[in-house]
Amino acid sequence: MSFEIKASDSNSSARTGIISTPHGRIETPAFGPVASQGSVKGLLHSQLENLGTQFLLVNSYHLFLRPGVEVVKKLGGVHSFISWKKPILSDSGGFQIYSLSPLVKVKTKGVEFSSHLDGSRISLSPEDVVDIQINLGSDIIMALDYFVPFPSPEEKLKEAVKITSLWAKRSKTRFAQQSTSQLLWGITQGGTSWDLREKSIEDLLEIDFDGYAIGGFGIGEPRSQLMEILEKSDSLLPQEKPRYLMGMGYVSDILDSVEKGIDIFDCVLPTRNARTGTLFTSKGKISIKNQKYAQDKKPLDETCTCYTCQNFSRAYLRHLYERQEISSAILNTIHNLHFYLDIFQKIRQAIQSKTFLQLKKNIMNKKEEKES
Ligand SMILES: [Zn+2]
Repeated sequence: MSFEIKASDSNSSARTGIISTPHGRIETPAFGPVASQGSVKGLLHSQLENLGTQFLLVNSYHLFLRPGVEVVKKLGGVHSFISWKKPILSDSGGFQIYSLSPLVKVKTKGVEFSSHLDGSRISLSPEDVVDIQINLGSDIIMALDYFVPFPSPEEKLKEAVKITSLWAKRSKTRFAQQSTSQLLWGITQGGTSWDLREKSIEDLLEIDFDGYAIGGFGIGEPRSQLMEILEKSDSLLPQEKPRYLMGMGYVSDILDSVEKGIDIFDCVLPTRNARTGTLFTSKGKISIKNQKYAQDKKPLDETCTCYTCQNFSRAYLRHLYERQEISSAILNTIHNLHFYLDIFQKIRQAIQSKTFLQLKKNIMNKKEEKES
């Protein structure tokens, strides 16, 4: 088994566990910084390691287009190519195909789209997407899913579930033909309709994956509907398999999702916001470009132990941001990722010591996701 539960919270569905991958273990609940092109924007791998990063998320769509899967394979696979020894999860590219590519055509045999780089027509079957990720050598491979925007008419959602299930089955068949210790996870779709989500989950359970992702969220749906789907999914998904909520990253969403049994998260929020000068602190968000920080001697967050907060004032960070220094992106990203990874460490500790709901209350009381 690739997943082992270590501790369960008696008052919620929160749990800690360990996912074993070919490149080591991931202690869950865990957050994976987004390294679409094989690099977390603004940081060196050594900095990511110092921050306690357990795994990275790379994007097979981007690596497939450039430098190309054959190139990565020739250079020893994605771990060797980017020189990262820990686990790597690769996204199937479903979301990128539908969001970046013009003229996407979905057929039962696969997806046809235009490259967002040069407009050339590309066809990919679910089998191709498995092959791409096997050749990349990522530890956790995602099956190709059919992603639809929010809101979508019921008929379109229904079709997305039907095709996602069909592709999931074909992905598993292709994967099962390979001799590999990589893990294959399936993605559920169905929007905010529980009937369709239920159908999607049941179809995927029948195929049997190493883990299950909840896809198609974080695209403008009402939060209450997301939480309702997570709560209902919790009772249907097997306890003994890891669960991944794709692309969601607000701390309040993370805490609520962990409570509903989610183990894995990824999001561009901490890194992208860092580069645009929005920094997360235990007391709320800070927009570092604000004039009021021009002479502020305090660190971003007085309780933070990161390199940025231990060494630099808000005034200096504002100055770097205003002057568009490269070090602004670096120092801001160090802080925001530290903030996220630290919360996940606290979450794991709290679940182990049976105090998760108390921790959640403390964080939410201290922190409002607005300008402090
Ligand atoms: Zn800090």
